[in-house]
Amino acid sequence: KRKPYLMAEDEPSGAILKPLVFRVDETTPAVVQSVLLERGWDRYDEQEEQSIEGWNLYWRTSSFRMAEHINVKPWQRLNHHPGTTKLTRKDNLAKHLKYMRRLYGTSLYEFIPLTFVMPTDYTKFIAEYFRERQALGTKRGYWICKPAELSRGRGILIFSDIKDFIFDDTYIVQKYICNPLLVGGYKCDLRIYVCVTGFRPLTIYVYQEGIVRFATEKFDLSNLQNYHAHLTNCSINKSGASYDKIKEVIGHGCKWTLSRFFSYLRSWDVDDLLLWQKIHRVVILTVLAIAPSVPSAANCFELFGFDILIDDNLKPWLLEVNYSPALSLDCSTDVSVKRKLIHDIIELIFLNGLRNEGEGGSKAAKGNASVSCAQGDKGGLDGACGSLPYGSLLRLARRTYCESGCAVEEAVRPCPEDAHAPPLRDTVSGRESHLSAQEPPKAKPKLRSRHMPHKAFTPYVSLIPSRTCKTKASPCVLSDHGETPDPRAGGFVLIFPFNEATLGASRNGLNVKRIIQELQKLMNKQHSQ
Ligand code: ADP
Repeated sequence: KRKPYLMAEDEPSGAILKPLVFRVDETTPAVVQSVLLERGWDRYDEQEEQSIEGWNLYWRTSSFRMAEHINVKPWQRLNHHPGTTKLTRKDNLAKHLKYMRRLYGTSLYEFIPLTFVMPTDYTKFIAEYFRERQALGTKRGYWICKPAELSRGRGILIFSDIKDFIFDDTYIVQKYICNPLLVGGYKCDLRIYVCVTGFRPLTIYVYQEGIVRFATEKFDLSNLQNYHAHLTNCSINKSGASYDKIKEVIGHGCKWTLSRFFSYLRSWDVDDLLLWQKIHRVVILTVLAIAPSVPSAANCFELFGFDILIDDNLKPWLLEVNYSPALSLDCSTDVSVKRKLIHDIIELIFLNGLRNEGEGGSKAAKGNASVSCAQGDKGGLDGACGSLPYGSLLRLARRTYCESGCAVEEAVRPCPEDAHAPPLRDTVSGRESHLSAQEPPKAKPKLRSRHMPHKAFTPYVSLIPSRTCKTKASPCVLSDHGETPDPRAGGFVLIFPFNEATLGASRNGLNVKRIIQELQKLMNKQHSQ
């Protein structure tokens, strides 16, 4: 028996409650559809003679046309923001981060391995290759060559000697991180889920759970051709002979949850909080590289998959940012992480209600949205605003704008659907309880860092002042430029803005310089602790 998620006991009598409606195409991941159905949503039927505007969320793998963004209605959400491929194509990412490095210094933007975009940077790469070779003497240097637009490890080449370097079309050549943090002798990288709910003002959430992807053969620099030892893509490792074997420490398959990985690190006295903070910084600095140049668009969000490799000094390296990160359910780790992830994205997006971007958009956030809307406040870029199609949305808007302070609490409480999902694991203690069932690690990770005593996990977001709105009867007083973002929704925590200064700097145009100063202050504080 399905029940619309937003149905409330105190719904005004006479309000027509209809389920929220999602729209899909043939690329929409099955898990997204099943989670939405489980939450009581209805699927939009393209064939039926219903209003073209009668849907609330359109989720698909590819981007939307600008016209679709322009025509989006106040009650609708799109799962892509225009202009975000500036981050998700490997060559674009390299160019943007290089530009930021020039502007704000190498010490801040040192988290991407040295990268050359081919064929433009060919001469520079050759010069660097021979410079390094001379500096290393008899030791070898390592490089990785990756197609700019492909994914899943396709077309990758790792080499040490330039005579093995072949490329065509648009490739990037990157310094190969040859000292990865090994678990039981296996290389891994982290898939971190990041949701940007708006670029104006910039609002970034990080998911507290994620996936750690392992190579399935032991790391060995003497054989660069063995992709099961050097690449951590599941699509590569799934087909390997060792995938089904029980491997030292990592066990069966090639994935762990992020919480299991952090617990493993803690068991060796690694300061996982510090590592997590460094990862947040990488995410913020990366998104800042494109934020000023993405076009303004209302009612959309972007889920990114950040691939982060940790080296044996516990330094996080950004390998790439994925557009429409894979949501296929290949193993039990995928099921537990990705189903909950989708539940929590829905919480996050609809907790933020009908928040709009750009000028005019924030007006809708002041007071009762249905009233604002009826008075002609802007919804999409075209400013069109019809009456809300569904009673349930009326309820949604009411909750978001008039009870916003209390909505935070409401949303983090597991919704009825969450009974089917794995438990919330948004704190270290949560992670521990989840992990207790896992096998304890048997071998020490190969680390050279100073080992720090374990500290209790306090999310980065604790820097954000909490909301002051106390009761349903007292609507929040919102600033002229929109409301303060919700500090959390399900397993998502807000990492940007992270204090009053960055909140201010993200409004009225993005003041990147000011934000960088705040990040530097924060880094200095963290280093001195
Ligand atoms: P794809 O989009 O094809 O997955 P990635 O950039 O994510 O391309 O690279 C695939 C895998 O190769 C990564 O998951 C990681 O295991 C390995 N890899 C990529 N770049 C590097 C690097 N610079 N140093 C070490 N390993 C890397």
